[in-house]
Amino acid sequence: MALVVQKFGGTSVADAERMREVADHVARTVRRGDQVVLVVSAMGKETDELLRLAAEVSSVHPGREMDMLITAGERKAMALVCMALHHIGIDSESFTGSQAGFLTDTNHRNAKILEVRPDRIRASLDAGRVAVLGGSQGVSTDHEVTFLGRGGSDTTAVAIAHALGAECCELYTDVTGVYTTDPRVVPTARRMPTISFDELLEMTATGCPKPAMRSVEYARTHGVRLHVRSAFTWQEGTWVDEEEPDMEQAIVSAVTHDTSEAKMTLAGVPDRPGVAATVFRALADQEVNVDMIVQNVSDHGVTDISFTVPHADLASAMEHTERLAAEVGAAGVSSDDTIARVSVVGAGMRSNPGVAATMFETLSSCGVNIQMISTSAIRVSCVVDGGQVEDAVRALHEAFGLHEA
Ligand code: ASP
Ligand code: MG
Repeated sequence: MALVVQKFGGTSVADAERMREVADHVARTVRRGDQVVLVVSAMGKETDELLRLAAEVSSVHPGREMDMLITAGERKAMALVCMALHHIGIDSESFTGSQAGFLTDTNHRNAKILEVRPDRIRASLDAGRVAVLGGSQGVSTDHEVTFLGRGGSDTTAVAIAHALGAECCELYTDVTGVYTTDPRVVPTARRMPTISFDELLEMTATGCPKPAMRSVEYARTHGVRLHVRSAFTWQEGTWVDEEEPDMEQAIVSAVTHDTSEAKMTLAGVPDRPGVAATVFRALADQEVNVDMIVQNVSDHGVTDISFTVPHADLASAMEHTERLAAEVGAAGVSSDDTIARVSVVGAGMRSNPGVAATMFETLSSCGVNIQMISTSAIRVSCVVDGGQVEDAVRALHEAFGLHEA
């Protein structure tokens, strides 16, 4: 008998029929002799809808009330799924984040899990029931309901899997696994049977939308094996696990792209200690999420600093950086919101030279100019013109031989 956590995303529980299919799947797992903890997201686009309603009702959104509102989506889904289970004779009970023992910090709308005390969930399983958890929620150290942020149900699933020592955490979604690149851009993209935590983390950080990056981080830290799979075809998906030390690794495993960021350049910055610190501290204090920072070699005592920020933060980042430019004596600030980032990711890169060279040659041969470059031990990223990014993805996917064999 194994204990498995099964998490179903919004599209997987979008309507009554979907919920009955999910219930049937859970019933099959239970009849196989396994114990199941179920985690559900809000139905379909319900979270977006609740956010839209809040905006329509008021321009004032107290964190406490927002979290009360948003978590209602998951609460509705968990009760309905339980009813679908009862309908086919599977004993089950639903739990809010608070009831499930998810203790969080007080940061409304994006709370962090401090501790999971799964006593009630364990008791429910011991009594022979399926425990159904509302995803992405908890209770704060101030005893308030909290929301774990967008995509937080993945984190709920991984955290409860860790707290209960589950065999694995299955993340059911509307795609059949993790692909070598976005199949909408490259139809020959291949589903990967396995991938390492490190690689998936780099992929989610550079544009791969699922699973939520935070859940992959949590899974890596605590060694929770993930299985990303489809709630529509039910076929075997992608296993995410520790890298095997002596495995022959693909040099490049995946190509990702991200069009959610804009580029900013601070030109003619005086080359002396403290300038970058001043600028990036100010942006951090404004909660602007800065990425891919590149500084040029200084020439005649001045240099340029370029970096990327999410589109959503661009206006506020520009405003603050313009003020700071004057303060630190820089020549000016410019921005470009038509850029995109393309990345190649692969654990085998650690021990194989030439990946960056191949990437740059490939981009050059399709006429794509590289505006910025950044690397990690297992990733190379280039900022390119947004209009060319899909061509770049296709060319790189082909150049690294990632298409269907
Ligand atoms: N329903 C929430 C969202 O869409 C949480 C989740 O699905 O993970 O962000
Ligand atoms: Mg969701």
